[in-house]
Amino acid sequence: MRVVVDQDLCGTTGQCVLTLPGTFRQRQTDGVAEVCAATVPQALHAAVLLAASQCPVAAIRVIESDAADDGRASVDPAPSSAEVERHASKDQRNPGGRDGAV
Ligand code: SF4
Repeated sequence: MRVVVDQDLCGTTGQCVLTLPGTFRQRQTDGVAEVCAATVPQALHAAVLLAASQCPVAAIRVIESDAADDGRASVDPAPSSAEVERHASKDQRNPGGRDGAV
């Protein structure tokens, strides 16, 4: 099982660290949470789900797939069909690719 914290979303409450201090930690510089190890033992499954459910901004994502535990953990999951559609429509509105985004 793989656990990911969206560090842009994290509100630095520290709740996940209080729930599972061996799995989550907060960066000293800004308090943003991060996961201590790339994979989390299956024995902590229920506790990780609890920590994720208690996050006030839903910044913790649990990836259940075995594929994420087999050495390909750094590969991002495939985009959802909604994401693909959104990008496709964006390309149609802005065929030159310059949308002013920074
Ligand atoms: S519970 Fe959520 S918001 Fe709070 S530190 Fe953990 S990831 Fe960040």
